[in-house]
Amino acid sequence: MTAPSHKALVPFVSVDNMMRLVHGIGIEHMLRDLADYIEADFKRWELFDKTPRVASHSEVGVIELMPTSDGEAYGFKYVNGHPKNTSEGLQTVTAFGLLADVYTGYPVLLTEMTMLTALRTAATSAMVAKHLAPNGSDTMAMIGNGAQSEFQTLAMKAICGLKSVRLYDKDPAATEKCARNLAAAGLEVVKCATPEEAIEGAQILTTCTADKQNAKILTDNMVGPGVHINAIGGDCPGKTELAAGILTRSDVFVEFPPQTRVEGEIQQMPEDFAVTELWEVVLGRKPGRRDDKQITLFDSVGFAIEDFSALRYIRDRIKDTDFFIDLDMLADPDDPRDLFGMLQRAQG
Ligand code: NAD
Repeated sequence: MTAPSHKALVPFVSVDNMMRLVHGIGIEHMLRDLADYIEADFKRWELFDKTPRVASHSEVGVIELMPTSDGEAYGFKYVNGHPKNTSEGLQTVTAFGLLADVYTGYPVLLTEMTMLTALRTAATSAMVAKHLAPNGSDTMAMIGNGAQSEFQTLAMKAICGLKSVRLYDKDPAATEKCARNLAAAGLEVVKCATPEEAIEGAQILTTCTADKQNAKILTDNMVGPGVHINAIGGDCPGKTELAAGILTRSDVFVEFPPQTRVEGEIQQMPEDFAVTELWEVVLGRKPGRRDDKQITLFDSVGFAIEDFSALRYIRDRIKDTDFFIDLDMLADPDDPRDLFGMLQRAQG
């Protein structure tokens, strides 16, 4: 008799386990941890494989693959963006991701990433705001009160010391939901009837809407000096949130220019429009905010390295816990060349 086939099992974090993990760590603690992992990887930016994500567009949405590697680990995320989904009772954004060992090529983690994307997007926003928002920023306008909005708000609280959030959504039910979910967060939560009301007194303006069009969530006259704009929702060709005039008055900071020029707010601008890469600010090679009057703009589209950081974090945190199950997803016979024999023996 041959010995039973050795199995290379892959840890899998389900949605249920991800939620248990978030509660076990504490969401604000986890957002701070994620921001630290992301910041650490921005500091190692140059050694990563970098490519704009591979996007498959349809009339109603996009499906994307986001790969990267630091030479030791390789990660990718599958993610969709379908703004029409909410009207059908589905999420706009869902995702899952995988981390693999570059030496063997074997996966070492498979995980849900819908929750994790909301967490990593929020942690990235807050890590960036820490470098760019005016000193003492304590009030944020949160325009677009959908799935990402509470995460964005809590990250700004945990990492930047936010005290007050001013909510606006074109759908008042979304604002009600967001206010309800944030009621016990230890923040002042103000529900606003217009975007103009939401930005009153706010130093950080977050736009996080979903609509497959060139929208003008913020018009030029709405944005005065001395604010930081955290533009999250414009992340696809033909899907933007800001009037072009705002971009010409702002210092624009981006993740990976070849991707952002196609997907971000700056798709509205000429190809040589000046931007600063965030990793250089994080490393102290380029200035972030220079003065109180400056308008800083994070033209966020979401880059693979942020997902890689999140995958690394989950791999590290689930060690010696029960927040995962082992998946039998790799055929790995004891004799590596006897894949067929393994199949034959399975016939029983
Ligand atoms: P969602 O569909 O759950 O929420 C979007 C909200 O925007 C809805 O409540 C909708 O009513 C509101 N909205 C739409 N048009 C509006 C308008 N003109 N004014 C005010 N509110 C408006 O979507 P979500 O999961 O919260 O994602 C929001 C956006 O962020 C999406 O466009 C998504 O693609 C993008 N996103 C970006 C990143 C990134 O890294 N930059 C990551 C995740 C999601």
